[in-house]
Amino acid sequence: MGADPGTYALVLECPKRQTVQIGRWREIETEPGYYVYVGSAFGPGGVRARVARHFRTAKSNHWHIDYLRAHLTPLGVWVSHAPVRLEHRWAGRLEAAEGFISLPGFGCSDCRCNAHLFQTHTGQGLERLLGDDQTELVWWPFTDEPFLFPSPVPSCSAAQTSQQFLLPTGP
Ligand SMILES: [Zn+2]
Repeated sequence: MGADPGTYALVLECPKRQTVQIGRWREIETEPGYYVYVGSAFGPGGVRARVARHFRTAKSNHWHIDYLRAHLTPLGVWVSHAPVRLEHRWAGRLEAAEGFISLPGFGCSDCRCNAHLFQTHTGQGLERLLGDDQTELVWWPFTDEPFLFPSPVPSCSAAQTSQQFLLPTGP
């Protein structure tokens, strides 16, 4: 379980409009609302280590998402432990979905997707967009306690509603 590989969709809350420099790439203007970043981790440490990295703030910035994450608040991640990389499929679904606006070029320099980052005002139905009959999703809520992460881990199948998506991030 601990180092299982997987695909994830990181959900971040953006409180206000702000300008964020994304490394040497470009500046972006954030919109109040939510951001969804899709990725996968099939190397050492698996998806747990990768998500823990996204949750932490004290780290050196390496990927596009690191620069953005420093200005936003994680709510949690939807995780699939399916043995294949799903992030490009997920990116394609979000690209086509109503209510999700892509940031072209973000996080996808190694693939043919238009973007791996999407902005949305409600985030409603996200897990229904990502999950399907073959893909069970689990929600890991954000915690800044690395030793507790990702426990407790409430299980939520793709068929359930998105209630958990908007839960507060902690005590
Ligand atoms: Zn891609």
